[in-house]
Amino acid sequence: MALGAALGLALTVPGVASAHPGETPPPPAKQPVATGWGGAVSSVDPDATRIGLDVLRRGGNAVDAAVATAAALGVTEPYSSGIGGGGYFVYYDARSRTVRTLDGRETAPAAMREGAFLDPATGLPIPFDQGVNSGLSVGVPGTPQTWNTALRKWGTTDLRAALRPAQQLAERGFVVDATFRDQTAANATRFDDITPTAKLFLPNGQPPVVGSVFRNPDLARTYDELGRKGVDWFYRGGLGREVVRTAQRPPVAPGADRVFRPGLIETDDLARYRVLDQRPTRIDYRGLDIYGMAPSSSGGSTVGEALNILETTAPPRMDEVGATHYYLEASRLAFADRNRYVGDPAFVDVPLRGLLADGFAKERGCLIDPDHAAVSPVPPGDPTAPYQRRCAPSGTPEATEPIEGLSTTHLVTADRWGNVVSYTLTIEQTGGSAITVPGRGFLLNNELTDFNFAPLTPGVPDPNLPAPGKRPRSSMSPTIVLKDGRPFVAVGSPGGATIITTVLQVLNGRVDRGLTLPQAVAAPRLSQRNGAATEVEPGVPASLRTALEQRGHVLKANPEIGAVAALEFLPGGRIQAVAEPARRGGGAAGVVRPEN
Ligand code: GLU
Repeated sequence: MALGAALGLALTVPGVASAHPGETPPPPAKQPVATGWGGAVSSVDPDATRIGLDVLRRGGNAVDAAVATAAALGVTEPYSSGIGGGGYFVYYDARSRTVRTLDGRETAPAAMREGAFLDPATGLPIPFDQGVNSGLSVGVPGTPQTWNTALRKWGTTDLRAALRPAQQLAERGFVVDATFRDQTAANATRFDDITPTAKLFLPNGQPPVVGSVFRNPDLARTYDELGRKGVDWFYRGGLGREVVRTAQRPPVAPGADRVFRPGLIETDDLARYRVLDQRPTRIDYRGLDIYGMAPSSSGGSTVGEALNILETTAPPRMDEVGATHYYLEASRLAFADRNRYVGDPAFVDVPLRGLLADGFAKERGCLIDPDHAAVSPVPPGDPTAPYQRRCAPSGTPEATEPIEGLSTTHLVTADRWGNVVSYTLTIEQTGGSAITVPGRGFLLNNELTDFNFAPLTPGVPDPNLPAPGKRPRSSMSPTIVLKDGRPFVAVGSPGGATIITTVLQVLNGRVDRGLTLPQAVAAPRLSQRNGAATEVEPGVPASLRTALEQRGHVLKANPEIGAVAALEFLPGGRIQAVAEPARRGGGAAGVVRPEN
């Protein structure tokens, strides 16, 4: 979102003037679609995309480019991602023709018990914003270890080299755009409660002005030191101790409006942290192999279940109203099952195989009335029972999930060898916990607010309650699609639980509705998550709204859903990188050698 950077590197996004050393160059041109050869990058930010493309040009692979791009997003998108957070990294390895994933989700500290977010006086959940603005919600960050692990396993470079372009970007600065300014302004009253956050992000007590240059020399030094000392500096060393101290005793400004509850995180929690090398979820959808993120994210299982339901119920190329109705109903059912069954598999027995079984999808899909919307909350099914060719829900309706944050960022990369990365990373809320580590230039996450503070439905087991060392359930859905065993599409998005519906809708648009990938990304979005109302973007045509309402869908406006980054392998060895044309100010797609 933030524009422009000054790197002394060759500029790789077309239409950009070259940088003069020591000056901040004009912002690189943003383009939502780029087609060509030799590799591709798509992200929300032109500087980050440019850095990733430059890594590819210099001979790096998709993993090197993904880490460099992510590190750059830590500079220009500091409210959405950074080394104080976590994420999920999905990788297609061209040599072995396999899809691998890394679960870099933040974890709860050993001292966190089930009732951590309950008020001891009342036994009731604390207000959500008191969870957000606290040290209590800071989970052990997974991002530094994710970058290091990905590079070691599959990259060609080391962490130091991968961080260097982002370090330079932080040093020399980027030109502030309206989105960065607006996000800062929206957070100003909590940012000014934390001394180092106010100092960094509210220079002179105000959000930075559009067109000014924003520098983060503290983060530049942090990246430099992290590169030189390695991730042990974070997980077992000095930086880790600073993270712990900051979360335990948030540096609250004099006269702050809020009380920031202390964090429970200890240095031992950092030392214990492990990125998990997970098996991806996989489903067959109309002859394509859809690979996603297994729990602790609910992304792979929920996108997968909904696609399975669509495959059994909705023939491809339906008319727009019919296709939209089925998309919404499939998502509604899949969310009922997600809420009931998905949590961290180290703590909860997640019936993943059942959730992704074709028989279960048939059992769920036959509940869809072609002419009428179901009334939510619909009950979950029973994915553990053998498929009985019946058409009845087995549970009782449960409450639907409360708020999730709307931060996060997604990127995709591909290289000339055919390796592909689809990577979603986050610090949860836009601006995370609002707590900056003093002198280090990055915000700490508030990911532990992704736990349910109390059981959603009293008396019904809840897979997503806090526990020591547990990972809160995520909705992040970095996805890679193979066709005949070769990469076809990579896609993902931010947006809390709307991530799942966004990825689902893009895949549905691309595979079933005859849209190109750029059309599927640009199309107006709708999101149904087993809630009373279906959220719709303003661009959804009135005729479609009316037709849906006639089928009983209750519609509710949502100004903007998701912010996709995606790519597709086209015939003839070409790659098409795709970003948002308009949402969140538009994203940046680029290829190494453009087609014309
Ligand atoms: N914390 C959310 C999740 O893991 C992502 C945050 C967001 O995109 O709003 O699902």
